[in-house]
Amino acid sequence: MNRFLRDEYLDAMGIQQWVSRERPATTDTLPEDVTITPAAGCGSADEAAVSGLDWPALEDRVARCTRCVLHETRTRTVFGTGKRTADWLIIGEAPGADEDRQGEPFVGRAGQLLTAMLQAIGYARDEVYITNILKCRPPGNRDPLPGEVDCCHDYLERQIKLIGPRLILVVGRIAAQNLLQTDLPIGRLRGSVHRYGDAGIPLVVTYHPAYLLRNPADKAKVWEDLCLAMKTLEAGQPGSQKAD
Ligand code: SF4
Repeated sequence: MNRFLRDEYLDAMGIQQWVSRERPATTDTLPEDVTITPAAGCGSADEAAVSGLDWPALEDRVARCTRCVLHETRTRTVFGTGKRTADWLIIGEAPGADEDRQGEPFVGRAGQLLTAMLQAIGYARDEVYITNILKCRPPGNRDPLPGEVDCCHDYLERQIKLIGPRLILVVGRIAAQNLLQTDLPIGRLRGSVHRYGDAGIPLVVTYHPAYLLRNPADKAKVWEDLCLAMKTLEAGQPGSQKAD
């Protein structure tokens, strides 16, 4: 059967399709889980070295990074902020104008809403770690290009290894589709506990706070997602091994 026709049939039946770039997905104990393979890296000459960097060296490497064209237009890199041993890792898409100026992720109105979302579940902003899949702002806030995401990916991967989070909350369609390597709409990615990487870190998807500012009626759905994330954490799913 034609692949596109098959995809349409499966889509119409509500069957999720997962495509791994490196190896097939496996299942685990959670009923609706899917194991996700991280995206491939940039292929840069210094890629291997990134996997051995500690926090200061990693932050310095990102600050000097020229791997993709975004370095030409950035004001500052936006590395990430928060507790470096946090249980919760929040991953968004990319810095916007405010973040590019200040060098911190999720500032401005969307950042205030993210802070309020975290407070609603009992966490202060500095009790979690917050970062993006891209460390530099795409001009005009355009969507990240696949090559840019790939080039930046091993920085995020090293952050995940160093933090060793017990849960990843992905905010927004772009970050979710890139991390899960899928084109499925965010509405189909919400509501399930996915698994990320070799460590199988539980991963929950929700809407980006910037989307919520435009669509406040969907705040109830975000609350559902946060409750799912809390429930997953409380269920005692193992965290990933923190890197030295
Ligand atoms: S977006 Fe990432 S890969 Fe591109 S220049 Fe910035 S830090 Fe480097």
